[in-house]
Amino acid sequence: MSVVALPRGWPIAPRIQSIIDGVAPPLRAGGVDLPIVNPTTEETLGVLREADASEVDAAVTSARRAFDSGPWSHMDINARKDILYAIRDRVRAHAEELAWLECTGAGLPMLRVRDQVQRAARVFEFFAEVASTLHGEAYTQTRGWLTCVTREPKGVAALIAPWNAPLSLAAMRIATCIPWGNTCVLKPSEYTPLSVRRLVEILHEAGLPPGVVNLVNGRGNTTGAALVDHPGIDLVGFTGGTATGRAIMAAAARRLVPTALELGGKSANIVCESADLERALDGSLVGIFANNGQQCLAGSRILVQRPIARQFIERFVARTRRIRIGDPLALTTEIGPLAFEAHMQRVLDYTRIAQEDGAQLLTGGRRAAFDHGWFVEPTAVLAPSNDARVCQEEIFGPFASFIEFGSIDEAIAIANRSKFGLASYVWSNDLGTAMRCSREIRAGTVWINTPMMRELRAPFGGYKESGVGRDGPAASVDFFTEQKATIIPIDPPAIPRFGA
Ligand code: NAD
Repeated sequence: MSVVALPRGWPIAPRIQSIIDGVAPPLRAGGVDLPIVNPTTEETLGVLREADASEVDAAVTSARRAFDSGPWSHMDINARKDILYAIRDRVRAHAEELAWLECTGAGLPMLRVRDQVQRAARVFEFFAEVASTLHGEAYTQTRGWLTCVTREPKGVAALIAPWNAPLSLAAMRIATCIPWGNTCVLKPSEYTPLSVRRLVEILHEAGLPPGVVNLVNGRGNTTGAALVDHPGIDLVGFTGGTATGRAIMAAAARRLVPTALELGGKSANIVCESADLERALDGSLVGIFANNGQQCLAGSRILVQRPIARQFIERFVARTRRIRIGDPLALTTEIGPLAFEAHMQRVLDYTRIAQEDGAQLLTGGRRAAFDHGWFVEPTAVLAPSNDARVCQEEIFGPFASFIEFGSIDEAIAIANRSKFGLASYVWSNDLGTAMRCSREIRAGTVWINTPMMRELRAPFGGYKESGVGRDGPAASVDFFTEQKATIIPIDPPAIPRFGA
């Protein structure tokens, strides 16, 4: 392939900076600049100025001021809701620009990114509604007393986001945090800063007061660590890998700061002989290859029941060979490049690892033969067993590992033999079989006869090493607000008169 010229573009500043108190901070001499590279063309698009500890401090101070003195935390809910609705509208008005930045900066296919941008707009509306219907409790059972329980925002959050769906995951983190009156400092991934930088500008253009959402750019072990360790942070919301989540939770625990962690996965996609095999085939391909295979909830372990296994795997491989790889901006592209070079190398390494473990390479396994870009051929292997590394480790690329099974009990046992527990997919037209899988599989989400539908009203998150806590209205209220009991006597009781 030769990479086609971008059909239409928006300007990208030669140097991307943080946003503190609504504006870019002064440029310090001697700061670190990191390259921003287009994964499709390998061209340098500009540089990212890394926020050092003093810039992180300025961002937290800004968020602290906006929380402690308002106006956001003290604002009437209707005024806050108006601003969140204005954000929704402005994201929609700039949808094509945001989608273009996401495709260009992260290599995600436009086919999918347009929906992700619409969803990013929707989450601001959704959580504004949840905040506006938030209510307290009152207890009067103890005669003579009224106890009111109210909810208050928790304070200043550190929000840390990954590169695999930068815009939608950052939007989700912000939208679950600020509607209650919290303020935050967001650190997106250093690999994919473009769309998130523009999103934070758009929040301000829509009327969000300065200091409510501050953005700091930079690497995890510098900018990210300085943020999590900052004494002005009251809570940490993190989406990313399990090893990083563990380090962040340990750092936050030193200051008893609560953490919500959305982490990795190695989800089982179980195809039973009782399935509608046509749908199961379509769904299994989407389950592993959507978003260039870089998704936490990918159905990356495909378990197929023996009587149908051979035919199903053959058809899967034939379809995989026909997947359209290429320029993510082209509307026909199904798989774009991986987000950065080191990640591509890591994914490619799994071809060797699979073969060393005795897996059979069915298709792919190589860098795609284009002039430029970090493209990996969509890959499928038949694993010797669930113990193979390709069945236990999160590869996070277009890499499917097949395992054959006999009974449903065996499939459930294989699905559960994983340190992860984010999601699972079950394909069966037998209601009992599907529901037994749902009941027995230890995962936060089970999709039956469908690939990855995300219901915003339901909790989303992982069992085991896939996470701590949930996203969703009820869980976000619990994580991002404090409960306060105010106790009032209706019939004031006598108070012991010490020292009278
Ligand atoms: P990562 O853990 O390497 O990085 C995530 C973010 O954490 C980045 O912004 C990074 O700079 C920052 N970071 C790294 N070290 C840090 C430290 N010591 N202190 C503070 N911040 C630090 O993850 P990634 O490679 O960007 O993303 C891929 C991972 O994210 C996969 O494991 C995937 O499954 C997971 N993920 C999970 C969900 C979910 O909802 N469960 C969603 C998307 C991605």
